[in-house]
Amino acid sequence: MYIVQVASECAPVIKAGGLGDVVYGLSRELEIRGNTVEIILPMYDCMRYDHIWGLHEAYRDLSVPWYGAAIRCDVFCGWVHGRLCFFIQPKSQDNFFNRGIYYGASDDNMRFAFFSKAALEFLLRTNKRPDVIHCHDWQTGLVPVMLYEIYKWHGMAHQRVLFTIHNFKHQGIGGVDILWATGLNNEEYYFQYDRLQDNFNPFVLNFMKGGIVYANHVNTVSPHHAWEAHYGSEGYGLGHTLHTHSYKFSGILNGVDYDIWNPEIDKYIPAKYTAETLENKVKNKKALRDRLGLRHDPEKPLICYIGRLDEQKGVHLVHHAIYHALLRGVQFVLLGSATERGINDWFWHEKNFLYSNPDAHLELGFNEELSHLIYAGADMIVVPSNFEPCGLTQMIGLKYGTVPIVRGVGGLVNTVFDRDYDENHPPEKRNGYVFQHTDFQALESAMDRAIGLWRYYPEEFEKLVLQGMAYDYSWKDPGAAYLGVYEYIRHR
Ligand code: ADP
Repeated sequence: MYIVQVASECAPVIKAGGLGDVVYGLSRELEIRGNTVEIILPMYDCMRYDHIWGLHEAYRDLSVPWYGAAIRCDVFCGWVHGRLCFFIQPKSQDNFFNRGIYYGASDDNMRFAFFSKAALEFLLRTNKRPDVIHCHDWQTGLVPVMLYEIYKWHGMAHQRVLFTIHNFKHQGIGGVDILWATGLNNEEYYFQYDRLQDNFNPFVLNFMKGGIVYANHVNTVSPHHAWEAHYGSEGYGLGHTLHTHSYKFSGILNGVDYDIWNPEIDKYIPAKYTAETLENKVKNKKALRDRLGLRHDPEKPLICYIGRLDEQKGVHLVHHAIYHALLRGVQFVLLGSATERGINDWFWHEKNFLYSNPDAHLELGFNEELSHLIYAGADMIVVPSNFEPCGLTQMIGLKYGTVPIVRGVGGLVNTVFDRDYDENHPPEKRNGYVFQHTDFQALESAMDRAIGLWRYYPEEFEKLVLQGMAYDYSWKDPGAAYLGVYEYIRHR
């Protein structure tokens, strides 16, 4: 099958979070299974060019209709660790992708509406006719809209679209100018409740809703989150739209790329290990402590947090976890970055406050290499999210023998099973700790259970570690599930 991924990230060249990992990992799995995969991305000035091989111009002066005129683009092509990627570089004064950031500009909706349009125009002009166009998140929500309203009439009638939602919180909204810019025009037609009109603000268009309405199939990144979004409040206002389109909505758990996230072959960690050579893990703990200037105390377990620092991730609980760990005589390492000013300032304050504490280290910023060492060196990883569509860090933690302590939401429910209380899994299949509520006590009790096991029942703790390492959260099953969906929509 011929599949084109249209996305705003692809790790490691463009990565702000899990989306990048998924676009890369899924594409790789699909190719291993004999499919042809191409990835279309924006050409950001700030992406990691050192991860692209053989970058060259693939198409010069692609004319992308925009506001009744056109913006010319050059399309570059190169390999990102074996994946064929096309990068769209517009040549206009808007400087859509030369901002030194991936997201967070005031005209993000225009930037990605343009990207979506340019991706389709590129497929059209180069006579690429994939069986499936796989779009990701609101940034590409207009792709199926434009495909079925415009490009279908220009020779792209047989293309099918899968729209994957990685995060319902960010939906992308815009006004009538989006319609004029993209050539969709027809204001009255699109400002309808059953098309692009936002479910709560009748004066704006909602990109993600457009993706849901127009795609042939829609999925989010775990079965439990699909349920939450449909029936609970996790759909951030799109619950009714999902309900209307529930016949084509599902949840597919993300995978982890075990070629990158695997302590047996990880090139960023000093001591490789497997379940059979688990004794080597402690060498990574030593290396981590050395690197971050933490004291070497064999009596102290080490808990980590790796992830974005924002509301979604439960920052107030992340913050509390640091001080609760210290109170219990446990070390804590945090690697995180915040885009919100207030949260950033807050954690910088904490970092300075804990600067000379030999049991805590806060690393603020994005550091892929260090993240590997932390996964390998820590004993436990805490994921206290408010909502979590899938979550990769707990799955990576499991692979590295780092016991997850998570809140029971979204994909965390599908991947972590409480050692003491899970009723759906026998004791030998349990792999971590789960708490339900968002208050401090809930987090503390789960942390205390984990710390207690590490301290007083080390053999039991090791058993739990090994049970976690035995789980297979690779792309094998999700890859097959995505192919199943592609096959299904392709023949409709
Ligand atoms: P989300 O997509 O919501 O950000 P996920 O858990 O799905 O969260 O994916 C997070 C990914 O980003 C993981 O691969 C994690 O290791 C990585 N990551 C998050 N924050 C950082 C950081 N500050 N430095 C390095 N890697 C990070």
